[in-house]
Amino acid sequence: CGIVGYIGPGQAAPFLLEGLSKLEYRGYDSAGIAVFDGNKINVDKSVGRLSVLAKKVEIHPLQGNLGIGHTRWATHGRPSDANSHPHTDCTGKFVVVHNGIIENYLHLKEQLIAKGHKFTSETDTEVVAHLLEECYEGDFEAAVKKVLEKIEGSYALVFMSQDDPDKLICTKQDNPLVIGLGDGENFIASDIPAIISRTRKTYILSDGEMAIVTKDSVWVMNRQGVPVTKKVFEVNWDA
Ligand code: GLU
Repeated sequence: CGIVGYIGPGQAAPFLLEGLSKLEYRGYDSAGIAVFDGNKINVDKSVGRLSVLAKKVEIHPLQGNLGIGHTRWATHGRPSDANSHPHTDCTGKFVVVHNGIIENYLHLKEQLIAKGHKFTSETDTEVVAHLLEECYEGDFEAAVKKVLEKIEGSYALVFMSQDDPDKLICTKQDNPLVIGLGDGENFIASDIPAIISRTRKTYILSDGEMAIVTKDSVWVMNRQGVPVTKKVFEVNWDA
């Protein structure tokens, strides 16, 4: 299972596919990417090897400079196209990738269904996308913080919002997540091999930290919203 993210002036999809291929050693049963095309977020995902997804993307390229990707190791819901990540809310405006397990997802799912949310997968992860929609009142960052107050479990998460295409928000608890610091572009990944061909400067996120990643800045804060000064970890080995 693995996570990648890109924001910058370049095309997102080539990095997302390349990055995910470098995370194959972590194991997976399905893969998917979501890319913002300047107007809306398009998602392509599929059960099976990464090459199945790559072929789909080759036929229908996902153009855009902001995107997230995922390889899934199914824990809740069998490996299938519908259960593959990225997951979206009902409007398709909020998109999420997740490694780990949302322990209280059933309880949250029942609450969301009662509020009219329609679910399209059997995963624990999909509740996160619907929760984000539910918590959103015009402030993406505030909505993510509210979601993090409600979910319990282990996770590396990256959030994308169609109305806020200038940033990605990511966070982690008991699952790894690193940020690659580029020049006018930034990268997110589960592990360093995914980003090493693009940059050697990284921030390694600690549990409970949340980062707002734009193309030329990375703001890290703790659960209380207090800014955290991260040390740059310079990778000095080859992948
Ligand atoms: N629990 C999630 C699922 O089953 C994420 C699994 C993973 O870490 O890839 O979809």
